[in-house]
Amino acid sequence: MSALTELYQQIALCRKCDIAKLRTKVVPGEGAENADIIFIGEAPGWHEDQQGRPFVGQAGQFLDKLLASINLKRQQVYIANVIKCRPPDNRDPLPTEIQNCCQWLDSQIATIKPKMIVTLGRYSMARYFPGKSISKIHGTAVKRDNVIYYAMYHPAAALHQQSLRQAIETDMLKIPKLLAEARNVQEARPSASGGQQLNMFEV
Ligand code: URA
Repeated sequence: MSALTELYQQIALCRKCDIAKLRTKVVPGEGAENADIIFIGEAPGWHEDQQGRPFVGQAGQFLDKLLASINLKRQQVYIANVIKCRPPDNRDPLPTEIQNCCQWLDSQIATIKPKMIVTLGRYSMARYFPGKSISKIHGTAVKRDNVIYYAMYHPAAALHQQSLRQAIETDMLKIPKLLAEARNVQEARPSASGGQQLNMFEV
């Protein structure tokens, strides 16, 4: 059994939050176990809860289009959420839910060991860019321990607001270059010069 499949079994048993009782299906995440890049959203919505898969509703279709704009398919990347159960009526995740659930996301990242982590929206941004404002840092990246963290708007927000849509489309187009840099840096490790190159992206 793969490490991720084992993790999915553990996630399915988790009952730490009350919202676990309300779920149809848990939504752990999906994609390539050896993905170089992980996209992290907020929480499952109605469609995700029905199917047990992340980003399969309207926002997910838009995310697929954004990925296609940089020649990526969802099977080549990994897609997850900050929390794995659907909050009722699509309310925002509570701080306790995020706290309870973050061990699963951390385990997914430790298993996949991505070279780049892309946050989609405020909740995943808050985990990796604490205290920052999304309107200020979207489209910028920071490198820590040879991993590039990159903040983007949430596709659901961008779907309904033209200015955000343009921003998310533009921000997506910057990913291939950043990913190439991340791959070079990791392949060149422990060379110091690769690390310096990326400092220009630090926020
Ligand atoms: N929005 C999210 O943040 N995640 C999903 O999986 C679907 C919609």
